[in-house]
Amino acid sequence: MRPHDLAEHHSGIALEVLKDALSSAGASIKDISVIGYSRGPGIGQSLLIGAFVARSLSLKLNKPLIGVNHPIAHVEIGRIVTGSKDPVILYVSGGNTQVISHNGRRYVVLGETLDIGLGNAQDRLGRELGLPFPPGPVMDSIEGNWIELPYTVKGMDLSFSGLLTEALRKLRVGFKREDVVWSFMEVAFSMTVEVAERALALTGKDELLLVGGVAASPRFREKVRRMCEERGASLKVPPPDLARDNGAMIAWTALLSYLHKITPPEDPSKSHILPEWRVDDLIWPLI
Ligand code: MG
Repeated sequence: MRPHDLAEHHSGIALEVLKDALSSAGASIKDISVIGYSRGPGIGQSLLIGAFVARSLSLKLNKPLIGVNHPIAHVEIGRIVTGSKDPVILYVSGGNTQVISHNGRRYVVLGETLDIGLGNAQDRLGRELGLPFPPGPVMDSIEGNWIELPYTVKGMDLSFSGLLTEALRKLRVGFKREDVVWSFMEVAFSMTVEVAERALALTGKDELLLVGGVAASPRFREKVRRMCEERGASLKVPPPDLARDNGAMIAWTALLSYLHKITPPEDPSKSHILPEWRVDDLIWPLI
């Protein structure tokens, strides 16, 4: 999807999403006390639509407006639903692959992909194979034999683009599809688990919280679970609808921020999105 189409899509369904959310909560618009929205990071055009709707509601209802950091929202909803206290967080989705940890005053990124997210690499390979979107569930269940593919971990950081390029090349020169897919997943998942393990060792923490869309992959979860078991760490995974991108995580984090006065409410006429906002750009206590 092009950014322009994303914006069209978001503005087209915004009011319907709001109505559905209110009716499934059995609430009316008057019950709302705080307006939260995803301020960043992300694709500017889609962030703008969310911010626009949130600002309009804030002005109309005269309620405080709180812009939320998207990765922190993944972490906070994950912590509250799994009862996790001070975990190492493995955030793996289409656009993001990060290992995050709290260090006293803020969440910090210990390691991350240097190019594309694991999910996007997977989607690109799936597209090449003509699989329906999202291809993850089908690719997860494909069995094959091991073939050599580039495994790139640099300290705590990862790179998936070399792996993807080589997997695509191997498909073109006639390697079996199932072998390429199976080995691609094996390498991508192993790299990610290795970095998470290193973060557990470095921080001495004994909980791993797995968030983001790729948390839904049983093959990935199993790899992470085995690593945690070997280290004596406990693995926490929110249910899939709260692990992938969702509105509840933004609402919950806005409420947390408001109640604990972490970030001051924004002036709706001056607020702006932050497409490059990182978790370490803001002070955020562990509550
Ligand atoms: Mg996300």
